Amino acid sequence: MTQLPDDLLLQARALINQAVAEATAQGKHDIRALYFVTYPAEDITPEMIRAAIDTMRQATPAGHAELHFAAKPGRYICWNCCGLRYEAVDGVCPNCGHEGLVVPMEMVVALERIEV
Ligand SMILES: [Zn+2]
Repeated sequence: MTQLPDDLLLQARALINQAVAEATAQGKHDIRALYFVTYPAEDITPEMIRAAIDTMRQATPAGHAELHFAAKPGRYICWNCCGLRYEAVDGVCPNCGHEGLVVPMEMVVALERIEV
């Protein structure tokens, strides 16, 4: 079992709080589904993101919600051809086909919408 980084757990907790606040604003107590978008990161896998969300939603109104994740393109730089900056889901440079370097994002996961 991989240890989850603290900043990932903090992000997950903030997103769950955001989801609960949105449900409360709509006068609902239970959240049926959570839709997240994820961005590629050097050291964070989608499985780690899912595990962090799952840990933080226990004993919240989102505890039994369906979880949906959609991968969004990240920003990369290719140092193989010409320092090209580009967006991609898989990180492969459109010029040379080499895998580029991820440009770190502030967030690796964001809440897109909730279903109550
Ligand atoms: Zn390239």
